[in-house]
Amino acid sequence: MTFDRICQTCKKNFKSQRKDSTTCYGCALTELIGNRAPEGGDFNTALICSGEMTDEQAHSLQEDLESVDHSGEEEFQRRIQEDYDDEDDRWDYLEEDDEDDFSDE
Ligand SMILES: [Zn+2]
Repeated sequence: MTFDRICQTCKKNFKSQRKDSTTCYGCALTELIGNRAPEGGDFNTALICSGEMTDEQAHSLQEDLESVDHSGEEEFQRRIQEDYDDEDDRWDYLEEDDEDDFSDE
């Protein structure tokens, strides 16, 4: 499920997983990293901020995030209980905050 959006920064048309997204992937990444070199996590963060990805990308991204979450035996054991408690909240950040992330830098 994607929505037709227009980036407020570069005016580019892009398709987003988020119907309220106002920043395309390129602009999200640029604002995120500034003048430094992007790191691995920055690409995922930009994808999440912009929502500019296919359903397939969104799915694999979620798998990536989950695999990161579950790395480490103790962490995994500890998170079993946490995940049970807040499973419904895991992807809420995709639908919230948006403008706020970029307006103050
Ligand atoms: Zn843009």
